Amino acid sequence: MPDLYIDGSWRGALDERTREIRCPADGSRVGVVDEAGGKDTVEAIAAARRAFDEGPWPTTPAADRGDLLLRVADLLVRDKDALARAESLDTGKRLVESEYDIDDIANCFRYFGRQATAEAGRVVETGTPSVDSRVVYEPVGVCALITPWNYPLLQTAWKVAPALAAGNTFVLKPSELTPHTAIRLMRLLEEAGVPPGVANLVLGAGPEAGAPLADHPDVDLVSFTGGLATGRALMAAAAGTVKKVALELGGKNPNIVFADADFETAVDMALTAVFLHSGQVCSAGARLLVEDGLHDRLVDEIVRRASRIRLGGPFDERAQTGPLISAAHREKVEAYVARGLAEGAVLRCGGERPTGPGLDDGFYYPPTVLDECSDDMSVVREESFGPVLTVERFSGEAEAVRLANDTIYGLAGAVFSTDEAKAQRVAARLRIGTVWINDFHPYVPQAEWGGYKQSGSGRELGPSGLAEYRETKHIWRNTDPSPQGWFD
Ligand code: NAD
Repeated sequence: MPDLYIDGSWRGALDERTREIRCPADGSRVGVVDEAGGKDTVEAIAAARRAFDEGPWPTTPAADRGDLLLRVADLLVRDKDALARAESLDTGKRLVESEYDIDDIANCFRYFGRQATAEAGRVVETGTPSVDSRVVYEPVGVCALITPWNYPLLQTAWKVAPALAAGNTFVLKPSELTPHTAIRLMRLLEEAGVPPGVANLVLGAGPEAGAPLADHPDVDLVSFTGGLATGRALMAAAAGTVKKVALELGGKNPNIVFADADFETAVDMALTAVFLHSGQVCSAGARLLVEDGLHDRLVDEIVRRASRIRLGGPFDERAQTGPLISAAHREKVEAYVARGLAEGAVLRCGGERPTGPGLDDGFYYPPTVLDECSDDMSVVREESFGPVLTVERFSGEAEAVRLANDTIYGLAGAVFSTDEAKAQRVAARLRIGTVWINDFHPYVPQAEWGGYKQSGSGRELGPSGLAEYRETKHIWRNTDPSPQGWFD
C-alpha cells in the first residue's frame, strides 16, 4: 500500500522515489516507504487549502471535532501493540518506552478532544447599550506540522490533536528516519472519519519534502519541533509570507543538585534525566550542576551506576536503554565528546563505542560522564542529544542560578534540594519553560510545554497549546445603527 496520504487518497511519490528504513538497533530492514518530493508536498498543501476554504471541517461544530479526537484516542488504545512495535523498530527504543508513549499519545488526543469545546469565545462588555460585542476563536487555516525522530508519534500528536480540535487542516511531515507510526496514525484518522483533505501526510527529507511547507503562500502556520539550526531556517523562510511560526527546539538543560538534596533521589534522577532514551530527549538533563560539598560523592555514584547501564535493542528485556538513531548522529556525539576532552573535560566513564554480541550492528554509544567542565566549554554550551553528562561545580544559590541561565537555551531543568523555600526561589529565577523540583521529566497534557530563549517560540499542550492553532476575532455589532454625521 502506498504511504503518502493526500486529499483522502493513498498514493506514491510523483517521481516514484522510495526510502528504505532500517532499525538503528541492529540494521535490520523495517520497510520501504514512499519518499515525497516538493511537488507532492505542493499537492498536499493544495488539498489542505481546499478542505479548509470549502469546508466542512473548519465549521464543523466543536463538539463533533472533539468527539472525533476521542474516537482516535480509542483507536490508538486498540492498536497500541502494533503502534509501539512500529515506533520501536523505527527508533530502536525499548518497547516498554514506546508502549508508555502510546498511552501518552492517547491521553493527548483525549485532552484536546475535551478542550475543543472548553472555551468557545466570550462576550465583551462595552458599556454601550446599543452594541453587542464578542470574541470568537477560529482556526488559523492550513498548518504545516514538521516533527523529529526522537518521539515520532508523541511529537506528532502534540500538533495533530490541537490542530484538528481547533478546526484546521494540515500537512504533516514526520522525520524521514521514522515514518511508520505517522502512516498508521493517518489510517486511524481516516477510520475515525476525518474528511478528505483535512489531514495530509508527506514523507521525505527536509530540504525536498519539507521546504515548501515553510514558504508556500497557502500555508498559514508552521509548527516545527526539531533542531535549532532547522528552526532558524524555517523561521526565515516563513517570514516572506508572515506565517505564524511555532518552534519547539533544543535544550541544554541544567540539573541543579544542592548539597542538602536527598542523595539517593538525586543520583537516581540525574541518571534518568540524561540517559533515558540514550539522551535523545529535548529535555534531557545533560548539564549537571552540583554544589561543591557534594561533588565527589555524587559524581562517583553516578559514574558507578552509569557504567553498569545495559544497552540493547527494543525487544531485549534486560536492556535499560537503546541505540542512537543513526550512524551520522553517533558520529556527531563522538565528535562532541572528543571536543570536550580537548577543552579539558575529564572522562569518568563511557566515551568509546561498545562492542559485543547484539551491539556491533547497532548505533550504540555508552553512558558517558565528563567531569570538571566549565560554562565556557562547547560541550556545556551545545546540545549533544546523546548520552553525555557534563558536570560543573557551584557554590551557593546565586552561582547555581547564574550558571544555569548562562545558555542560549531555555527549555527545561530541575532543582534538587530538601530546602523547599530555596528550591522555589531558584525555580522562580530560572529562565526556562519547565522546572522540576526534586523530579525530572514528567509532564501532563494539561500544562504547557515550550522553551524560553532559543529553545522555541511557541507553546504546546495546555490551553496555550490549543491557542497556537486559533485566530481570535472580535465581532462588534451595532444593534441600533443611525448616521453619525461626521462628514455632513
Ligand atoms: P531536525 O531539525 O534535523 O529535523 C526535524 C524535522 O525537520 C524533520 O522532519 C526534518 O526532515 C525536517 N526538516 C529539516 N530541514 C527542513 C527544511 N529545510 N524544511 C522543512 N523541514 C525540514 O531535528 P531532529 O534531528 O529530527 O530532532 C532532534 C532535535 O529536536 C533536537 O535538537 C531536539 O532537542 C529537538 N526536539 C525538541 C523538542 C521540544 O519539545 N522542544 C522535542 C523533541 C525534539
